Amino acid sequence: MTAWDLAVVGAGPAGSATAIGALRADPTLRVALLDRADFPRDKSCGDGIAPHVVDLLEEAGVHGVVDDRVPVPRLRLDRGPLGVDRPMARPTWVVPRTVFDQRLVTAAQEAGAVLLRHRVREVRRTPLGLDDHEARVVVGADGAHSVVRRALGLASGPMAVAIRGYSPTPLHRSNAQVIVFDAARQPAYAWAFDRGDGLSNVGYGVLLGRHGSPTKAQMMDRLATLLPGSTEGGTAWRGHQLPLSTGRWRPPAGPVLLAGDAAGLVNPMTGEGIYYAVATGLAAGRAAAEALASGDPTSAGRRYARATRPLLAGHLRHIAAAAWLCRRGAVIDAGLRASAADQRVFDDLVELGLARGRITPTMARGLVRELAGAVRHRHHDTEEPTTCES
Ligand SMILES: Cc1cc2nc3c(=O)[nH]c(=O)nc-3n(C[C@H](O)[C@H](O)[C@H](O)COP(=O)(O)OP(=O)(O)OC[C@H]3O[C@@H](n4cnc5c(N)ncnc54)[C@H](O)[C@@H]3O)c2cc1C
Repeated sequence: MTAWDLAVVGAGPAGSATAIGALRADPTLRVALLDRADFPRDKSCGDGIAPHVVDLLEEAGVHGVVDDRVPVPRLRLDRGPLGVDRPMARPTWVVPRTVFDQRLVTAAQEAGAVLLRHRVREVRRTPLGLDDHEARVVVGADGAHSVVRRALGLASGPMAVAIRGYSPTPLHRSNAQVIVFDAARQPAYAWAFDRGDGLSNVGYGVLLGRHGSPTKAQMMDRLATLLPGSTEGGTAWRGHQLPLSTGRWRPPAGPVLLAGDAAGLVNPMTGEGIYYAVATGLAAGRAAAEALASGDPTSAGRRYARATRPLLAGHLRHIAAAAWLCRRGAVIDAGLRASAADQRVFDDLVELGLARGRITPTMARGLVRELAGAVRHRHHDTEEPTTCES
């Protein structure tokens, strides 16, 4: 048995952030970062890194993770004939996960974490431990199919599935993140995110529902239809599931915490999850360190809930409501029209989709105005010409 103060399962963004959060709070802690994969490892992802992620890392003392990358200034959103193409309030980055995750793992190791290749199979509650490792606090940061989440007896929530690859960036899609909503299968969209090095991350994602999972061929077909040419010359196709957040945030009490995808924290509007992984990872690490310092490791869950509630609770309710509304094509159309008419609506939508945003009054007014306009139009178009009979 190896004994640790904190054992973190999974060395993705959530796991590395957990180790960094804990070791910044107390550099003397013995922290294990256990991952079944050898690093650097790939992860199926759109590779979109919101500026908020960089802010969180900078605040935690992790500098320069995107300094050598090309910022992406524009976002284009299309649905059928409708579209909006605007600069974002702050640029985003597109960083392959082999690069981004390795940088976070290195930062965690530099802070003092011990990275071990190990696939965790068993989580014991008394005494707390994982296979042949003992720990005073455990954080499950082991992604969409978390063994730690299962050991806590928590079911997984709604899931989406997505596939991504890398293909050459055509001129008309350079310097931008492009999203094309799929009017044929709602909610679903295709994307092409320019990496700035001649290649784009391209992909297609869809909510899993009653109709089950689409095949790889079906997803590739939708991607090629929605973003013509995007699959040509494509390599490294890889699919994965996305555990979508619901409107509720109730982390369990006790010495076993969940962060990132393991906690079911992917934005159901956009499929974005790295921000939540880093935010909850840092908070979980800090909560673990505080609980250990207090001499009561079982208080970690309570401390984690207290720290993350102000950050997440309201936001998750708003994105759940927005995702529900976005199941209606008419609402997406209204959002696109309102964003095309007003940069502030566009900025608020981006904030809601990327990190901490809420449904703002400006956004709500824009949506209502456009929905009412669409109803008036339809009424006008379908009105029968009145005839007078004598
Ligand atoms: C196709 C696709 C596109 C996406 N696009 C974006 C995007 O553009 N931007 C964005 O922000 N988010 C995106 N996401 C979501 C994002 O990928 C996840 O939210 C993010 O990876 C979550 O990080 P994490 O650290 O929680 O989990 P992960 O990154 O999945 O890391 C979990 C780690 O745990 C390890 N592990 C799993 N089980 C065990 C075990 N039993 N023992 C030991 N180790 C284990 C794995 O090897 C892995 O390294 C996308 C997801 C998909 C599928």
